[in-house]
Amino acid sequence: MRLLVTGGCGFIGSNFIHYMLGKYPNYQIVNLDKLTYAGNPANLKDLENNSNYSFIQGDICDPVMVNETMKKVDQVVNFAAESHVDRSIEDGSIFVMTNVLGTNTLLQSALANNIKKFIHISTDEVYGSIKEGSFTEKDTLNPSNPYSSSKAGSDLLALSYYTTYGLPVCVTRCTNNFGPYQYPEKLIPFFISRLMDGKKVPVHGTGLNIRDWIYVEDHCSAIDFVLHKGTSGEIYNIDGGNELTNLEITHLLLKILDKNESSIEYVEDRKGNDFRYSLNGSKLEKMGWKPKYDFETTFKQTVRWYVENRWWWEPLKR
Ligand code: NAD
Repeated sequence: MRLLVTGGCGFIGSNFIHYMLGKYPNYQIVNLDKLTYAGNPANLKDLENNSNYSFIQGDICDPVMVNETMKKVDQVVNFAAESHVDRSIEDGSIFVMTNVLGTNTLLQSALANNIKKFIHISTDEVYGSIKEGSFTEKDTLNPSNPYSSSKAGSDLLALSYYTTYGLPVCVTRCTNNFGPYQYPEKLIPFFISRLMDGKKVPVHGTGLNIRDWIYVEDHCSAIDFVLHKGTSGEIYNIDGGNELTNLEITHLLLKILDKNESSIEYVEDRKGNDFRYSLNGSKLEKMGWKPKYDFETTFKQTVRWYVENRWWWEPLKR
């Protein structure tokens, strides 16, 4: 297997490359990453001398570069994206560029190069908010912010390449991930780093918004499963089964880091903040995949990782 991973220097991409090379030492992985502020080569430093791993710095919006890279591989997993909702609310332009145009550039090149499988990594946020129950893959998309809207656009484009041209595409939609190497602008590492520095953590609105959480390695194993067992043209929800309010997550962090309520600062709610994300993951479960890791254990391990690896996140906060 010669696999192109785009956005492999980011949070999930780097965990996925570690996971795949650990499980399949003979696979060849090419990582194409632009190295935006969120891309960090330090995440994959340990692979520098691995002859089955190579890195190319490049933009998924660049058709020449993408085409040259695509010639070297048989399968693609597309993680590359602008991924931070707050940044998209400030300015959505780069989100449209990378998430929509970049995905289209990859799809065009995948088609021209006869790619055998194209996994497009998406998010539960494309469905929008749900008060009760959980979204299935058949539900309509109703994204609320420029990030999730650009992801919804890229999902639909990916699926259209299957319908129109028969490109073997699968789309995965996963819930919130936690684990090592997550850029410290995202809730969990952001809060840990602030608490470690004796600062308050800003909780949006009432903090009662609900998110479902999955340990990043479970997300990686689900993508591996879809890569090998997924049917082309299909969408797969990946849920963690751990729905918690943002305030509950905050209290867990306070407890583990030996802090109290006084470290919380309630701030104005995020514009267009979705109340609850929830996925029905029974489609993948019926096929034989389910998350393996216990939430409490991996959550504590994740906090410990950030506590022990200040060298990794501190330079990113400057
Ligand atoms: P991230 O921001 O940590 O990493 C994104 C990576 O993409 C970075 O390495 C960056 O340099 C690279 N990149 C950005 N623009 C690029 C471009 N034009 N060309 C090439 N590379 C580019 O993101 P993440 O949290 O690892 O998310 C990865 C994917 O998973 C995204 O598509 C995201 O929508 C999706 N997702 C994330 C979560 C989550 O909880 N983090 C949940 C569900 C889905």
